[in-house]
Amino acid sequence: MPAKFKILVPDKLASEGLAFIEAQPDAELTSKPGITEDELAQIAGEYDGIIVRSGIKVTAKVLNNPGNLKAVARAGVGVDNIDLDAATASGILVMNSAQASTVSTAEHAFTLMMALARNIGPAYKTMSEGGWDRSKYQGMQLGGKTLGVVGFGRIGQTFAQRALAFDMKVIAYDPFINQPTMMDGQVRMFREFEDILPLADILTFHVPLCDETRGMLSDKTFALCRKGVFAINASRGGVVDEKALLEALDSGQCGGAALDVFETEPPPTDDPLRSHPRVLVTPHLGASTAEAQKAVSVSAAEGLLCYLRGEGINGAVNAPGLRVDLDPLQACFVDLASRMAQLISPMVTRGFAAIDIELAGPELSPAAATIERMLLIGLLRNHMDVPLNMINVTQIAQQRGINVRIVTTEQAPRGGAQMSITIQGPADAVSDHAHPGDRSRRIVGRVYDDMRPRVVEINGYHMDMIPEGIMVLIQNDDRPGMIGAVGMCMGVANVNIADMAISRRDKTALMLLKVDDEPGEALLDTLGQVEGILKVAKVQLPSGA
Ligand code: NAD
Repeated sequence: MPAKFKILVPDKLASEGLAFIEAQPDAELTSKPGITEDELAQIAGEYDGIIVRSGIKVTAKVLNNPGNLKAVARAGVGVDNIDLDAATASGILVMNSAQASTVSTAEHAFTLMMALARNIGPAYKTMSEGGWDRSKYQGMQLGGKTLGVVGFGRIGQTFAQRALAFDMKVIAYDPFINQPTMMDGQVRMFREFEDILPLADILTFHVPLCDETRGMLSDKTFALCRKGVFAINASRGGVVDEKALLEALDSGQCGGAALDVFETEPPPTDDPLRSHPRVLVTPHLGASTAEAQKAVSVSAAEGLLCYLRGEGINGAVNAPGLRVDLDPLQACFVDLASRMAQLISPMVTRGFAAIDIELAGPELSPAAATIERMLLIGLLRNHMDVPLNMINVTQIAQQRGINVRIVTTEQAPRGGAQMSITIQGPADAVSDHAHPGDRSRRIVGRVYDDMRPRVVEINGYHMDMIPEGIMVLIQNDDRPGMIGAVGMCMGVANVNIADMAISRRDKTALMLLKVDDEPGEALLDTLGQVEGILKVAKVQLPSGA
């Protein structure tokens, strides 16, 4: 019999997951809950695979010198405790088992909605303190009400199915689904967040936390909601602006809120949200069911062994080591595709209807499929929690109605091969709330003789910059003083500008800055408030292009 796969579990894992591994004839389990990060770094290389929860960090120290290690599986969703860049650089696959907790989390959010509508929290509290008040806790019937689901991925759709069974009218906003309706026409899809707000009696959030979703329910968007709207957040803390929520509750604009997640977890003990009479809170319990914990532990073990046996990849969070026979120039273009996608991604906030890829030069056609996949991963990965990889990404894009077209031409422009990506926004993105210019985005890149990638154009702004490290994109009115104002803000925040490209077109300009130090939220906010600055986005690209 061939040697067994050695699996290390350096964290507390549900017993079902451990039992699953022990029952496999080709696997050998070592369970060491409670070991330190240093101890893990010393022994990790002796194992083929590791399964962790969130209790231990898998750092670059563990991953830089991987020995036999081929994969790390996270039993659960968040992979913040695993250094993804170091894993990718060492060719180690990182996978999660997010889908295993979908039903539990959707059920929890649904429970919050039902409890909120019928005042279960305060009614229970009054009774447990000896009271009896029937009129005070008159509730709201769910049947017939309009539910707005924000983020129509796994949990959003699972929630929606349940709401339909309760005779609710369900509408949803998800800019990365390019379909007019979902669920056999039962759910009308919206492409603008602002358009769904005046229609919903209840809003429920199921989005990842990213620049576009942070604080998406704010003073400004609460004002567009129906008076007395109910809000539920069991996605990520920070999606609902907590200060704006308190103000909306006090003014009556928000009729009640239910939160499972918070900007800071746990929230401070004196946080007014903890005791607000119209707020129902739970301590991040979405995935906390015996079934979900069991399912994530078994799913992580299954996924890990499936990969080690060479049977397939499920739930990959990174996509290392996929062997593709590319020559060095093609490999550079594949890497450039990923960098270009990540760079333009923050500018595509209204979703995609179509992505056009033009590859000019005879060398590029054999790499077209790989370029397409890397590009889709780069464009989509900040917008969803579904693990995307080279294997599943085209299928996921198709399911979401995103139309990808590739044109390859033998004739390269002067200066050699060139790749351009044009992203078309949805045709209906011309509602009252659509941002002008959001219909189409274009980025062009090249690889020069030094075999280093360059971005040579963004949205018609010409430049020549190696896309690497921390980059800040600033779009501004083209008028005197803007460069000085940006330099001043950066200087005050002690952030050093390493390189800068500026390009102008019509009456606006685009600055692309490479910075040595991480620009914090406060600096990005300050920049965004400078008069004449229209848009600011930060992108973290791999260094050393
Ligand atoms: P998913 O990736 O399947 O779905 C997320 C959806 O959000 C996608 O369809 C994506 O297109 C959409 N989206 C992205 N950006 C958007 C935007 N700006 N506006 C509107 N929609 C946008 O993820 P999921 O598994 O359904 O998880 C949803 C959220 O729930 C995640 O934040 C996840 O971390 C969280 N979660 C919480 C718990 C908990 O314990 N409370 C448990 C599991 C997951």
